Amino acid sequence: MSLSDVRHWVFDMDGTLTVAVHDFAAIRVALEIPPEDDILTHLAALPAEVAAAKHAWLLEHERALALGSVAAEGAVELVRALAERGYRLGILTRNARELAHITLEAIGLADCFAVEDVLGREDAPPKPDPGGLLKLAAAWEVVPSEMVMVGDYRFDLDCGRAAGSRTVLVNVPQNPWPELADWHAPDCVVLLGMIQPRQ
Ligand SMILES: [Mg+2]
Repeated sequence: MSLSDVRHWVFDMDGTLTVAVHDFAAIRVALEIPPEDDILTHLAALPAEVAAAKHAWLLEHERALALGSVAAEGAVELVRALAERGYRLGILTRNARELAHITLEAIGLADCFAVEDVLGREDAPPKPDPGGLLKLAAAWEVVPSEMVMVGDYRFDLDCGRAAGSRTVLVNVPQNPWPELADWHAPDCVVLLGMIQPRQ
């Protein structure tokens, strides 16, 4: 299958459609999470009351970032081109669903995604778990191999692989995970070029 034949596209949000602004090291310091720990996994293991307070802090911190979101180079043009072809488009993010919607509004892409196809951390187990991707596949009534997961990090690629979907690594100059990515583009401008007929 060539990438231009794929009609079902799922995007990671932060660092994929937006310029990455999360300072995960600073978040870990603020929430007293060891540098080597995964933030969401760490919070999930805490006593409920402590976890709730830290989740609330994280949500407020991320809300401020979402309101100031800036689209990644070429991301708006890419998503618009796919939407104009009538393709099904979804978001699968480890961020909160509400913040994903705020982010899409901020970068001017909210109209390209059906509300129910924007999955946040309340809707699915966090990537690299394939649950969110499989949920979209079921909702769209397609086999996962007809979908592509687009992201800027190995969690996105692992998630796609685990679901049996195709994978695209974007916004990384060199591909550190060639075995996990079916396609690689240094940015969304190049990715759009890969699905357009040669002039
Ligand atoms: Mg990302």
